[in-house]
Amino acid sequence: MDAFEGKMKELLPVSKEVRWEACDRAKGACICPSCPSYSICAQGNGEALFCILGMSFRCIRKDRGCTCPQCPVYLELGLSKKDYCMKGSEKDQRWEKGLL
Ligand code: SF4
Ligand code: SF4
Repeated sequence: MDAFEGKMKELLPVSKEVRWEACDRAKGACICPSCPSYSICAQGNGEALFCILGMSFRCIRKDRGCTCPQCPVYLELGLSKKDYCMKGSEKDQRWEKGLL
């Protein structure tokens, strides 16, 4: 089990309210708004924390690079992928890789 799997396992027994609080805290540290791929649409809709919440619903469709590996959340959660706003969350991308 790697660091990310350990973090996700810690969240399994907690209530959804506690999960939302954890997400809100992480959202505050997310550096997506300073990424070149981030858009005005994403800003207006408060989109962030794509690594956990999943890909942008409709606001980010142009790949101008990804700064996720420089984010404090990336290290804290033991993430290993990137381009979350365009490819889906860490969980989604790991699951997809398992299909290959
Ligand atoms: S790793 Fe990327 S998507 Fe996740 S919080 Fe940091 S900048 Fe946002
Ligand atoms: S997930 Fe990566 S590519 Fe998307 S906005 Fe955040 S830092 Fe940029």
